[in-house]
Amino acid sequence: MKIFTQINEVRNYLKRQYPATVGFVPTMGALHKGHLTLLERAKAENEIAICSIFVNPIQFNNAQDLQYYPRPFEQDVVLLEKVNCDVLFAPSEAEMYPQIPAISVQVGKLGEVMEGKYRAGHFNGVGVVVCKLFNIVRPNVAYFGQKDLQQCAVIRQVVEDMSIDLELKICPTLRENDGLAMSSRNLRLSPTQRQIAPLIYQALQTAEKIIREEQNLAKAQAEAVRMIEQESAFRLEYLEIVNLRSLEEMKEMNKTLQTEPLAICVAAHLGNVRLIDNVVLEN
Ligand code: AMP
Repeated sequence: MKIFTQINEVRNYLKRQYPATVGFVPTMGALHKGHLTLLERAKAENEIAICSIFVNPIQFNNAQDLQYYPRPFEQDVVLLEKVNCDVLFAPSEAEMYPQIPAISVQVGKLGEVMEGKYRAGHFNGVGVVVCKLFNIVRPNVAYFGQKDLQQCAVIRQVVEDMSIDLELKICPTLRENDGLAMSSRNLRLSPTQRQIAPLIYQALQTAEKIIREEQNLAKAQAEAVRMIEQESAFRLEYLEIVNLRSLEEMKEMNKTLQTEPLAICVAAHLGNVRLIDNVVLEN
């Protein structure tokens, strides 16, 4: 695997290869199986698979979260070698942001609800870094995880609005055996918190069952909230049932899931670790 830290080096390398297609997986490192399945898919579907590792400071609205974000770089390199990743791009902050970017990326409502409400400036930071990375790597296909459902929606909007020439592929959320969505932040959970954490997915599954059996969104939401709040270690930020495309909150179900797919999205703190998860209901 080739490792580059400089923008011009990775650009020149990719140009010289003349690959038929480039598949790209942007990450912030601390790689787990969720990231690796995206890379395996990028590798299987493209001549070159490239991963980026960059803990993007401008998408963090919490200094502690940024400071304690895990950065096990050597271990990440070993994992990437194992899935035969061709190229790793791991720039420094100074390389990506020689100065604070003057541009900002806003996508209206899509970026303002849920995560946008609780993480001011987060999607601006995501939008800026993703545009920069797309311009550096110029991939044919970019792979993202459904775990960050709102991020996928925001990036899709940016790609459409800016006519960025690439295909987005959204991959299913990988989970631990007990249902907890894999996340780099799980490394920061204490053993007790780690035991409690799967309750988030159990609450989502309960809400899904109520929606499928009773088409009752208010009851589904209330029951899922109750399940999470009964565990006092959790601080729930939001649990919303939204239209899968617009991410607008839904209070009632007027159509079938085929005509109007839904997502149940949640964010909750366990100690100082913030966890998010979602399930999609489309048929
Ligand atoms: P991150 O390093 O957290 O920015 O994630 C990099 C990419 O991996 C994003 O597209 C995430 O949505 C995706 N990802 C993170 N966790 C998972 C997971 N458990 N399953 C599938 N994809 C994931």
